[in-house]
Amino acid sequence: MTLNEHDRTIIMDSIRDIHDFPKPGIVFKDITTLLSDKNAYGVLMKHLHDRYSSYNLTHIAGIDARGFIFGAALAQMLGVGFIPIRKKGKLPYTTVSEKYSLEYGVDEVEVHIDAFSNVENPQVLLIDDLIATGGTAYAAASLINKVGATCVEACFIMGLDFLDGQKKLSEVVPVYTVIGVD
Ligand code: AMP
Repeated sequence: MTLNEHDRTIIMDSIRDIHDFPKPGIVFKDITTLLSDKNAYGVLMKHLHDRYSSYNLTHIAGIDARGFIFGAALAQMLGVGFIPIRKKGKLPYTTVSEKYSLEYGVDEVEVHIDAFSNVENPQVLLIDDLIATGGTAYAAASLINKVGATCVEACFIMGLDFLDGQKKLSEVVPVYTVIGVD
């Protein structure tokens, strides 16, 4: 199930472009204006609920930090658990971690080693606000598999279609972007 044109326009119009943030040349997709618009936020969450209600998920894993907002809300709507995938050093219990490259240097994400151990055969949807190069999501999907769960799909509110992040990620997990940005 994909988004209809009417709902796509409502969501698109609620997301703000901030030029040259956090550095010159980047167009930052600001979702705070989507969240403060109860109609747009509602349309988006209903669409995600409709799409994923037949997936038999056991958990949603959200990527630090904007993935938490959509992931936690969707988990409640679907009646499944929520797992945070966090930047290094934030989780208090034993973690499993995965490094990934940035334009300059490396970053690292972590998940609790027992994150999905409360069910047999965990079926997980990974979610974040946006996929650019795909490095963060690739590392997060690897983490889910490392701790013994299956990542059934990776979902993003927006995908930057001019980068090849979605292609790279789709080699390891099906990818769904609600809205593609040229
Ligand atoms: P990447 O690993 O390159 O796919 O980057 C994805 C992460 O960086 C996500 O958590 C996004 O929230 C954030 N991000 C990257 N580019 C943008 C952008 N143009 N606007 C908003 N967030 C971005």
